Amino acid sequence: MTDRSAELFARALEVTPGGVNSPVRAFGPVGGTPRFIERGLGPYLFDVDGREYVDLVCSWGPMILGHAHPAVVTAVSRALANGTSFGAATAGEVELAAEIIARTPVEQVRLVSSGTEATMSALRLARGYTGRSLVVKFAGCYHGHVDALLVAAGSGVATFGLPDTPGVTGASAADTVVLPYNDADAVRALFAARGDEIACVITEACPANMGVVPPAAGFNELLRSLCDGAGALLIMDEVLTGFRVSPSGWYGVDGVPGDLVTFGKVMGGGLPCAAFGGRAEVMQRLAPVGPVYQAGTLSGNPLATAAGLATLRACTPAVYEAVDSFASTLSAQVSAVLDKEGVPHCLSTAGNLFTVFLGRTEPVRNFADAKAQSTAAYAAFFHAMLDGGVYLPPSAFEAWFVSAVHDEHALSRIADALPAAARAAASALW
Ligand SMILES: *Cc1c(COP(=O)(O)O)cnc(C)c1O
Repeated sequence: MTDRSAELFARALEVTPGGVNSPVRAFGPVGGTPRFIERGLGPYLFDVDGREYVDLVCSWGPMILGHAHPAVVTAVSRALANGTSFGAATAGEVELAAEIIARTPVEQVRLVSSGTEATMSALRLARGYTGRSLVVKFAGCYHGHVDALLVAAGSGVATFGLPDTPGVTGASAADTVVLPYNDADAVRALFAARGDEIACVITEACPANMGVVPPAAGFNELLRSLCDGAGALLIMDEVLTGFRVSPSGWYGVDGVPGDLVTFGKVMGGGLPCAAFGGRAEVMQRLAPVGPVYQAGTLSGNPLATAAGLATLRACTPAVYEAVDSFASTLSAQVSAVLDKEGVPHCLSTAGNLFTVFLGRTEPVRNFADAKAQSTAAYAAFFHAMLDGGVYLPPSAFEAWFVSAVHDEHALSRIADALPAAARAAASALW
C-alpha cells in the first residue's frame, strides 16, 4: 500500500516541479510513485504508509552512523536550544574546521552549506589564484549543479540523459574541457597542447556519480604531476567520499593530495553543511584576507556544525570497519544471487562504495562503459527490492550506501528480497 505517498506526490506535483526538490528523488528513471519518508532509525526508513525499508541510500551518503544516531540527536538538540543562527562567528565552526584539517591534507577550511557551493567556490578560487580560465573535468563526474561543471555530468544529469542543461550559457561552459575518465593519454595530450591555460583539473577523488568507477592505478598521481608541471591546481572533489571511505576520505586510500579539496555529505551529519579547503597559501586568497570573494548567510550554521562535529567525532576506526565489512558482505551476496539467477553483471567497488551494473560483465572504467549497462534491468530489480522492503538508489548511475549500524537483521531482510529481484532483472534482460 502506497496510498498516502501517492496522495502526497499528487499534491507535491502541484506545488513543486516534478513533485521533488532534487530530481532523482522523483523515481523518474525507475518509474512508480516515490515514497514519502516519515522517519528513519538506524538502518531503517519508515514511509508515510507505515512501510519499513532497509535504507541503502543513506541520504546519498551522509548517514554513515545511521538515522537518528543518539550522539547527533543530542548535539543538535543542545545547539537548537541556543538559537538557530546568528550570522556571527561561533566556536563550533572553529572546531569543525580543525576536525577536518586533522583528518585530511588541507591546511585551511571555509565552511559552506552544500557540496555545490563548495565546488563552485573552489573553482572560483582556482581561477582567481592562477589567473587562468580553463577548467578540466571528466565525463560522468558530478560536482553539483555549478554552471561550468554541468557538462557531461554524472548523477541526476546522467540519469536523465541531459547532454547539456538549458540555462547554462555557451559562455559559462566554454572554458570547461571535458575528457573521458581514466584516459591518461587524453589528459597528457590536453596538457601538452593547452597546459598554460589550465586553471584547474577537478575530479571526484574516486568517482561514484556514474556509479562507482575507481581511478585506474596511477591516474590520480598523473593528474597531480601534470598539474604541478603546468602550474594548475588539482581540485579533489571528496563531497561524497570524504569521511566515508576512510577517516580521511579517498585521500586515505591513495594518498594523492589536492591543492583544494571539497567536502560535504558525511561532514554535515545530515544537515546542510559542506566545505572546501586546501593549501594555506591558496586559501589565503579568499576574502576577507584576499581578493577572491565568497560568502554565505548560513555558512557554518550552529546546528549544522553541531551535527557535523558529532558525526565526525563518532566516526571511530570501528565505524569504518563496520561499514567496510557490511559493504563487502552485501556486495558479495548480491553478486552471488545474481549469478545464481543467471543475471550478467559487474560489481564495481571502491572501499565501502559499490555499484552493481546489470547487463554487462566487463569492468566499468568510464562513463561510456557505465552507460552500456541495462537501466531497464535495474528498474525491475529496484522495484522488486522496494516491494521486498529494501530502499535502493532510484537510479542505476549511483553508488549503494550503507552505515555502521547496518547489521545481521538488515542483511537478512535484504537477503530475503534478493532472489525475486534477481529474477525480475533476468526477465527484463531476456
Ligand atoms: C553530492 C555531490 C556534490 C554536490 O553536493 P550537494 O550538497 O548535493 O550540492 C558534489 N560533488 C560530489 C562528488 C557529490 O557526490
